[in-house]
Amino acid sequence: MTGQTYLDTLCLAPEFAARVACNAPMSRYTSWHAGGPADLLFTPRDVSDLASFLRQLPASVPLLWIGLGSNLLVRDGGIRGAVVSMQGTLGALERVSATRINVQAGVTCAKLAKQCVKWGLGPAEFFAGIPGTVGGALAMNAGAWDGETWRHVIEVDVIDRRGIRHTRPASDYVVSYRQVKRPAEEWFIAARLEFERRPGVNDAAIKELLERRKQTQPIGEWSCGSVFTNPPGRHAGRLIEDSGLKGFRIGDASVSEKHANFIINHGTARAADIEALILHVQRTVAEHAQVELKTEVRIVGDPA
Ligand SMILES: Cc1cc2nc3c(=O)[nH]c(=O)nc-3n(C[C@H](O)[C@H](O)[C@H](O)COP(=O)(O)OP(=O)(O)OC[C@H]3O[C@@H](n4cnc5c(N)ncnc54)[C@H](O)[C@@H]3O)c2cc1C
Repeated sequence: MTGQTYLDTLCLAPEFAARVACNAPMSRYTSWHAGGPADLLFTPRDVSDLASFLRQLPASVPLLWIGLGSNLLVRDGGIRGAVVSMQGTLGALERVSATRINVQAGVTCAKLAKQCVKWGLGPAEFFAGIPGTVGGALAMNAGAWDGETWRHVIEVDVIDRRGIRHTRPASDYVVSYRQVKRPAEEWFIAARLEFERRPGVNDAAIKELLERRKQTQPIGEWSCGSVFTNPPGRHAGRLIEDSGLKGFRIGDASVSEKHANFIINHGTARAADIEALILHVQRTVAEHAQVELKTEVRIVGDPA
């Protein structure tokens, strides 16, 4: 069924039917620039608009939430159902007390880092090099340089399938390295984060961390950052490098020469090439080092 025909069967309220994108190419919404079309893609104007959209969406329609797609591999057959995109929306960021901020899910991690530095709050500089949204950082417990998102979370605002909002304390979530167990069919719309007062902090701290990244990671190329989580006590990148896989290529995707835990799309890689490369790396490292690598990136959608 085409996206338009599918849309016709859903009988969305007219104001939403006119605003959803049909057959939205997910390659435009992901940092790997690969992946097939989503049946429908919706970008809400604000939280009430989002609530109204969810209220009238039939319960049978599968939903996928995306931020900046910097941790997503969408297969070439695309996504059945609706995608809710946080790109360029839900962007409020305010200080609510001396050490506490309220941030909406669509704010980029880079903006969060910069603003916290301006407010003299930290440690938030680690967010600067994470090219996603706050919603994605909450879903992934994103982190870098010893910093982790959920160490700062006091409470979150979420929205459920029926468009009802809830506020939940951080203790409602089971959080670990790049993993957050949360109720199904609830998505992050905002969070209250707590930092320390750091009057001396300035932009130089951010610049230094970004510079360190440039030296060790293939910044500027099409990737999803680290493809695999680090197994306990080991470095995924080192294991891949020691297995002789740097530069290994399938189609137009290859293991980065600069950082072996990155897979680069050189321009025309299909999601299937990237996924085949992921499987090849897992098999080779299992044979070579007897270690099972687990993906950090989320793989979604249908094969072509
Ligand atoms: C060059 C590069 C460097 C990177 N460096 C790091 C790093 O240092 N540390 C790190 O942790 N990650 C890193 N990443 C990976 C990625 O940026 C993070 O995982 C980021 O948190 C993903 O955010 P996003 O908005 O892009 O989420 P997406 O990739 O769009 O989504 C990721 C997951 O979160 C879910 N999700 C997104 N928004 C919401 C929401 N509002 N509510 C509920 N679920 C949601 C999605 O459904 C999906 O399962 C890097 C990526 C790249 C390309």
